[in-house]
Amino acid sequence: MKILKNMLIVLVLLVLGGCSIQKNLYSDALVIRNVTTIDAKNGLQENRTVVVKDHKIIDNIPTAAVKTSSSQIVDGTGKFLIPGLWDAHVHLSFEQDLTPAMFDLFLAYGITSIRDTGGQLDLVLPEREKARKNPNSTPRVMIAGPLLDGVPTVYDGSSPGRPKLGLGAGSVKEAEALVNQFATAQVDLIKAYEMLSPAAFKAVLKLAKSKGLKVTGHVPLSMDVVEASQAGMNSMEHMRNLEMACSKDWESLLDQRQNLLKNGADKEGGTLRSNIHSAQRTHAVENQDAARRNYVLKELAQNGTWQIPTLSIMTTSALRPFATDEWKNTFQFLPPSVADRWSSNLANYLATPIKESQQAYTKWALDMITHLKEANVPIMAGTDCPIFFLTPGYSLHEELALLVKGGLTPMEALEAATLRPAQYFNMEKELGVIEKGMLADLVLLNANPLDNIKNTSTIEAVVRNGQYHDREALNGMLRKRGKK
Ligand SMILES: [Zn+2]
Repeated sequence: MKILKNMLIVLVLLVLGGCSIQKNLYSDALVIRNVTTIDAKNGLQENRTVVVKDHKIIDNIPTAAVKTSSSQIVDGTGKFLIPGLWDAHVHLSFEQDLTPAMFDLFLAYGITSIRDTGGQLDLVLPEREKARKNPNSTPRVMIAGPLLDGVPTVYDGSSPGRPKLGLGAGSVKEAEALVNQFATAQVDLIKAYEMLSPAAFKAVLKLAKSKGLKVTGHVPLSMDVVEASQAGMNSMEHMRNLEMACSKDWESLLDQRQNLLKNGADKEGGTLRSNIHSAQRTHAVENQDAARRNYVLKELAQNGTWQIPTLSIMTTSALRPFATDEWKNTFQFLPPSVADRWSSNLANYLATPIKESQQAYTKWALDMITHLKEANVPIMAGTDCPIFFLTPGYSLHEELALLVKGGLTPMEALEAATLRPAQYFNMEKELGVIEKGMLADLVLLNANPLDNIKNTSTIEAVVRNGQYHDREALNGMLRKRGKK
């Protein structure tokens, strides 16, 4: 009897042991073995094996528990796996001779999803369609459609610096008609812009919400940030006009803006906006009030108004990171017409002296990252590429470094480019962390991004929708459109 009992125990142990070593499993899956996984929910986990099949992560388990016979095994020893990155602020149609190169550039730099924050429907809809048809080799694309602006309209197509990215609504009715038009085209969000009247802006928020669409944008110059946030604005780009709201004399600045808008109704939209920024920005930056700022940021946090600071564009006029050879070297991957234009424009730009006001604004923007963090206002990473020499893909890594410079930890910066955008689009059950059941958008790095955020650019491979793109394939994407 005792022998029989012992035999039974041995049998049970054998069965249990057999379960912990899963022999010959995952025979036709992508298996990344013995890698360190990093995501904003689970933190850093060493010695993991991540298994990808049919576009999804089907396992993330300790390497010791896996024995596989798959023909597609990647040795992840000494490497780091992070979720695919988002650039949450791009303009696919800003420079049309660059548009055909952008998807390759994004993917080669580990950007597996993008949010287009302004472009005409006839230009951005086909791009989203292209991306949907080729999910293994293009980033996921979310679009806002045109900037929903007021009259006069800022991006009205009046100059190369202001291509026609926007449409102007002169009344509440016209604003609502535009929301309906964009919703019919199945945009993924709405972007409200600076020249909208308070009534039209609020009507846009209300109608978009009823259609399940988030509204991001620039707080209209006719309004205060708190009023826009309380009305339900979901997110703000570039922390636009936040400096004015945090100024000790924010009320008189608002009065002044409303007067300038009234008196400048016959001006070009872009000119009028620039004049107003010039009249108020530097003054506001020099007159920040801590108590008022705390109140404004508390409102943003309470109302769920997220921030996309786009430090890449906000700070570079003073920091000028594009002066480095590393940055200029990325121009070789742009179509020759774009590379030539950017090179000559950049040389001209670098010849101008940095203004004191640019330095002050940059300092304000970097300081604000810590204030946002302390106030628990969620942040997403976005660049505004390809405006202002921001090479698509490459510039997102600069944005992450700037967010860390501003006060985020490297993990928080990663969160801003992975989990946060997933949450923004209600996709957190599918994207943003490395867990079983998630869509397989991943980036394999050669160095730990938590040690130094710049290590996000040490890309060994990119997995998009389950498809593994090794370094050689990524190099091919980079070289596809550049000078031969
Ligand atoms: Zn933009």
